Amino acid sequence: MRELINPATGLPCAEIPDTPVEGVASAVREARAAFEEWSQATPGERARVLLRTADLVEAAAEELTRLEVEETGKPAAVFRDGELPFAADNLRFFAGAARSLEGSGAGVFSAGYTSVMLRRPVGVVGSIAPWNFPFVMAIWKVGPALAAGNAVVIKPAPQTPRTTLRLAELFAEAGAPAGLVRVVTGGAEVGQALVTDPGVDMVSVTGSTETGRAVMTGAAATLKRVHLELGGKAPALVFEDADLAEMARGVAMGATYNTGQDCTAATRVYVAREVYADAVEALRATLADITAGDPWDPATDIGPLISSAHRDRVHGFVSRASGRVLQGGSPIGGPGFFYPPTLVADAAQVSEIVQGEIFGPVLVALPFDGEDEAVRLANDTRYGLASSVWSRDVARAMRVSHRLDVGVTWVNDHLPIASEAPHGGVKGSGFGKDMSQEAVQEYSVTRHLMVKHAAPAERDSFRPA
Ligand code: NAD
Repeated sequence: MRELINPATGLPCAEIPDTPVEGVASAVREARAAFEEWSQATPGERARVLLRTADLVEAAAEELTRLEVEETGKPAAVFRDGELPFAADNLRFFAGAARSLEGSGAGVFSAGYTSVMLRRPVGVVGSIAPWNFPFVMAIWKVGPALAAGNAVVIKPAPQTPRTTLRLAELFAEAGAPAGLVRVVTGGAEVGQALVTDPGVDMVSVTGSTETGRAVMTGAAATLKRVHLELGGKAPALVFEDADLAEMARGVAMGATYNTGQDCTAATRVYVAREVYADAVEALRATLADITAGDPWDPATDIGPLISSAHRDRVHGFVSRASGRVLQGGSPIGGPGFFYPPTLVADAAQVSEIVQGEIFGPVLVALPFDGEDEAVRLANDTRYGLASSVWSRDVARAMRVSHRLDVGVTWVNDHLPIASEAPHGGVKGSGFGKDMSQEAVQEYSVTRHLMVKHAAPAERDSFRPA
């Protein structure tokens, strides 16, 4: 049995058994049997199951909120009124995407032959999810995979399994074949059993860069397709013509949403030297106004960090930092694993607080001189997931955005996402896209069907040159 801890209280909230490692293979077999049926369903039939699940998710909002808040400590309103409706919207998007998943075309490319390009599902997908957005991540994994006709065996993070377990029940209630969405529980060992199982055709993981590497290595022996959504260290570039009040609101929100436990969180703010002092003060004042506390209190902006060990890790980065701590910087006492919004100015670009993924509400500010230096500093980490550019000059915002090695750049905001827009990174942030039609494409493969429609005598040539 694994004891789940409520990070807002530090107390146990439930016990969930880990799936024994040998249980992974039987989950994969069940998923394979369901795949045989589901892969034959029409796109319309798949879409109906996804749409019904979206309705059931909304109907179960209170229960799902309780489970998610107990395990993550995130503010109830943030989940109930933000993440959960967004997850339902994702499912509805994937329902539509299931019906518009098409091959690239058909034609006569070789004399006497009709070519048809079809998309077919990959098979059984092994999905591995993190603890920061347990429910939304489960939807991002399962939704596009089912839309494309696959079955899924998903392993939630060991700290946060219950909303994923409930989601699998909701899919079954919505009419998915038994075993189509199977959940296995546990940590890295169970994850590796899934990655290496020969019955799994593709592995999709959202987690740290180190986990991505371990998953890719594990998947190599059986040559599985891999889809990796990994860590981030997003820069925000603030130019001298930016609206500093608007920037402070957006970057502070970007740095602290979900207590900074967000792969796209604003973590490094680079500011034009001319406005550096003003921008840093605006950020400090905005961060000071953000309230960490009881997730059930409507006045709370951010909850705790996920665990006491993670809080120690976050604080380690801050306590070793060379710069000036202008706000926050030490753990909040009392029960629960709370850490305040923290601002560190002037740390060295090469230092770990600027380079490493902290995954907490910690923002580092540094000055820059000119566009070229801003771009160079922004690109100077191993990650490449998200970024933002703050300027009233549209041409400059565009020019700078084009030069950033990342999956997404926001202009004059930081964080918003949409079901239609692909989410994913480059470099150490991995590859593969979540959400959007691209995600559905990634869970399918192209198949070429070539039909001879003319007898040899009627053909101009046997093969193309
Ligand atoms: P983690 O890497 O520790 O764990 C993620 C998942 O992988 C968990 O389910 C874990 O049990 C499993 N796992 C760990 N080691 C494994 C192994 N060797 N083989 C198979 N499975 C293994 O990450 P976390 O701490 O749960 O989540 C935080 C990380 O996730 C951060 O690095 C964050 O940036 C990243 N993340 C990325 C995105 C994105 O879209 N790019 C989104 C959310 C979170």
